[in-house]
Amino acid sequence: MGKSKSFADKMNKKDSSTHCSECGESITAVKLISSERSKKINAWRFNQRFVRVCKCNENEIIS
Ligand SMILES: [Zn+2]
Repeated sequence: MGKSKSFADKMNKKDSSTHCSECGESITAVKLISSERSKKINAWRFNQRFVRVCKCNENEIIS
């Protein structure tokens, strides 16, 4: 994977929004839903957020 860095760099210039500049892999937007209990209203709140996942951080996010 590391060998193709120059190729990855070209890809990044062409399509920087979907490829990671670190690993050159395509980035996937993953929706994470976390719940937390709000003491004020005594109810569960659900937070949705999109996280961009690539080879660099997929282990820590998906595990
Ligand atoms: Zn990456």
